[in-house]
Amino acid sequence: MSENAAADDGGEIAVDFGDEGLVPAIAQDADSGEVLMLAYVSPEALARTRETGVAHYYSRSRDELWKKGDTSGHTQAVEQVRVDCDADSLLYIVEQDGGACHTGYHSCFHRTIDDTNVGERVFDPEEVYWLDVNRWVGWGRRRQANWR
Ligand SMILES: [Zn+2]
Repeated sequence: MSENAAADDGGEIAVDFGDEGLVPAIAQDADSGEVLMLAYVSPEALARTRETGVAHYYSRSRDELWKKGDTSGHTQAVEQVRVDCDADSLLYIVEQDGGACHTGYHSCFHRTIDDTNVGERVFDPEEVYWLDVNRWVGWGRRRQANWR
């Protein structure tokens, strides 16, 4: 590391939240390096994440701040928040409790483009989200929602 790079340590990077006030954030498993999910983060969600050490996002479909795992209990303990070179996307490096995906998989990216399953199912969504099953309409709606 050069002296200049060392001198940059400890500063604060101004994240570019764009016109919509949101920045995409990838969550990556700290142990395996697996990519878990992609979601959006508002300034408030980022602040909460840094304050609490638990991943928070912003749901565009529900138009609200959400704590990952609020419903399911499958929270993400954030070890590090990284910012990319353009400061317009984030990387959350996390310890994932349970599964990241509301369909029960460890990662949202559990299938290939030709619909081959390459992921591991780690929980039963019907069990975990049973309250929401009663509250919400059905699978069509559920698939579209960003589940907590
Ligand atoms: Zn998912």
